[in-house]
Amino acid sequence: MASQKRKDTIDWTEYFMAMAFLAAKRSKDPSTQVGACIVNEDKRVVGIGYNGFPTGCSDDEFPWSKTSDNPLETKYLYVCHAEVNAILNKNSTDVKNCTMYVALFPCNECAKIIIQSSIREVVYMSDKHAHKEHTVAAKRMFDAAGVKYTQYKPPHSQIVIDFTEIDWDSLNQVPATPKKTNPIDDEVSMSKLSLKEGP
Ligand SMILES: [Zn+2]
Repeated sequence: MASQKRKDTIDWTEYFMAMAFLAAKRSKDPSTQVGACIVNEDKRVVGIGYNGFPTGCSDDEFPWSKTSDNPLETKYLYVCHAEVNAILNKNSTDVKNCTMYVALFPCNECAKIIIQSSIREVVYMSDKHAHKEHTVAAKRMFDAAGVKYTQYKPPHSQIVIDFTEIDWDSLNQVPATPKKTNPIDDEVSMSKLSLKEGP
C-alpha cells in the first residue's frame, strides 16, 4: 500500500499553462488555437478563455480566413483573443495582481486590456511574433506599466490526459467500508459483556 505522497505530479506553473492549452482546444480557429488562464495571488483560477468570435457571431457564418481581397472576409475584424475572453470570463470582482498564463505572447490590443485590468504578470510559451510591430508595442507598454513577462520552459514536453488509464477498481478516496457483522452476534457479545460487568 502506498503511504508516501506522490512525487510525479505537475507543478503549479505547469498546471496553469496546461489549463490554457486545454482551453485552446475549444477554439474553432483553423490556424491558431490560443488559450489563456488567469490565476490570482492565492493560486486560484479566476478566468479562462480561448480565441473565438463574439457571442451570437456564428463560426459557420463569420470568416476564419487569414487572407482575402476583402478585409471584411478575414477573421481579424471579428475574433476575440483568448486573453480578452479570459478577462471578460472572470468569476471574481477583478483580476488585480493576477498572473495570466497564455500560449502566445499577447498582441498590443490585449496588452492594453491586460494593463488596464491590473494583471501584474504574463507567463507565455511562444514569442514567435517577437519581430512584429504588435509584439514590440505590447512589450513597450508592459515595460512602461511594470507588467512582468516571463517565457515558460516546460519541464515536460507533454502532459497526457488519458481517460482510460485509471484503474477504477483500485481508486479509492474514502476508507474501506467496514465488514458487516451479524446483528445477532452483536447482541450476544453485548449480553456477555453486561453479564461480565454485572454485580
Ligand atoms: Zn491579442
